[in-house]
Amino acid sequence: MSINLKFCGGVGTVSGSMHLATTDKSAVLIDCGLFHGHRDEYYTVNSTFPINPPDLDCCIISHAHIDHCGNFPTLVNKGFRKKAYLTPSTTELCHYMLPDSGHIQEEDIKYVNKINLRRGRPPREPLYTRYDAENSLRYLYSLDYHKKERVTEDMELTFFDAGHILGSSIPTVDISANGKTIRIAYAVDLGRPNLPYVGNPEIPKNIDYLIVESTYGGRKHSPIEETEKKLMEVVNKTVARGGKIIVPSFALERTQEVIYFLSRLLRERKIKEIPIYVDSPLAVNVTKVFENNKDYFSKEIQDMDPLASENITYIEGVEQSKQLHNKKGPMVIISASGTCEHGRILHHLKNNIEKQYNTIVIVGYMPQNTLGRKIVEHDKPTVNIFGRPYKLKAEVVVVDSFSAHADSDCLFQYVNEARDSLEKVFIVHGEPEQSEKLKEKLVSLNVESMIPEKNETVCLG
Ligand SMILES: [Zn+2]
Ligand SMILES: [Zn+2]
Repeated sequence: MSINLKFCGGVGTVSGSMHLATTDKSAVLIDCGLFHGHRDEYYTVNSTFPINPPDLDCCIISHAHIDHCGNFPTLVNKGFRKKAYLTPSTTELCHYMLPDSGHIQEEDIKYVNKINLRRGRPPREPLYTRYDAENSLRYLYSLDYHKKERVTEDMELTFFDAGHILGSSIPTVDISANGKTIRIAYAVDLGRPNLPYVGNPEIPKNIDYLIVESTYGGRKHSPIEETEKKLMEVVNKTVARGGKIIVPSFALERTQEVIYFLSRLLRERKIKEIPIYVDSPLAVNVTKVFENNKDYFSKEIQDMDPLASENITYIEGVEQSKQLHNKKGPMVIISASGTCEHGRILHHLKNNIEKQYNTIVIVGYMPQNTLGRKIVEHDKPTVNIFGRPYKLKAEVVVVDSFSAHADSDCLFQYVNEARDSLEKVFIVHGEPEQSEKLKEKLVSLNVESMIPEKNETVCLG
């Protein structure tokens, strides 16, 4: 009898996290993330699973970011009918994140099929639809932090807090085989200390095998405390010249973090009382989930209640969103998508990007080939929005101290604190250079570590 771990996705890259733990008696999928890539590769990778989905005994989902949960509807489409375990907040978040992902895929395919029709090619189907995503929600099964649950004949699962986003967990699986029990902890993604809304990352006891992310395996973050100062400067400067502040932001966590820092600045009277609009139906729904889960917040955040600040207006309807274009005077508009690829942010950019008194504040990582990246790089005088060129005259400010991931120092410290019981560390979820840098850094700890290849299987006993 053997215990095997297969590294199927989120290996050598940061998207599409997926791992398979098997024994002679059971098979469990850890994370079912959506892989981001060019269209053909996207379909092939996201349609392929390491095992026939009906043969799985369960699925475990670490958190509600799409690159960790976003391919679950495909798993269900391909016959998975068992339980998917996640924390209660992650379940609630998935009720909005997964249908939204289905909607984006339908819209993308509509666009592709328009082109296919023109070129005489056959139409394509989306990977999954909003309906498929809604249908998959029935298999989600909430399990509280620290509550041990038997999930298969020889595996028990406990969630620890990953301190990354609301509901994020370090799924820890105890596998009993050959007369012994081994413990695998999955710290992908791992948070960093002192983030608003979430606790600090927990370290489960007696880990034998640690699977750890390495997004920032070789990089350090600016301290989170710098965020407030930078935001204060950019808001005050823009307000002084009567401009608008446009913030492209991910709907989950980053939007609520921006609100937290702006609310603090308002309370401390470090910025003027200006209206703040959150213009994204998904961000509004996700914020409601945050409000439902206040019990997980620190005492400071509970007392402050930043999401309910009276300066903030949450916008869902299209008409209300359009009215923002005619409103005059300084204001903050936070809108999705975070990479400026789709959604209402495109309208706000179109209306504001050509005025030099406005500011675009970048609060997240902009992947290559996105409109967001073109705005950050600003190497051409114009950018294309809805197929038309617009002059980029607004000021662009990058606030890079936001990050919900552990940096190289935090990752090192985490492994150091867990090392007494560690047999091996598996480094995943990073560009190869970042994973290598973390591996080098861990040498001084005398812990064996490896960077698995995609689809490599390791025998753990
Ligand atoms: Zn994440
Ligand atoms: Zn991730």
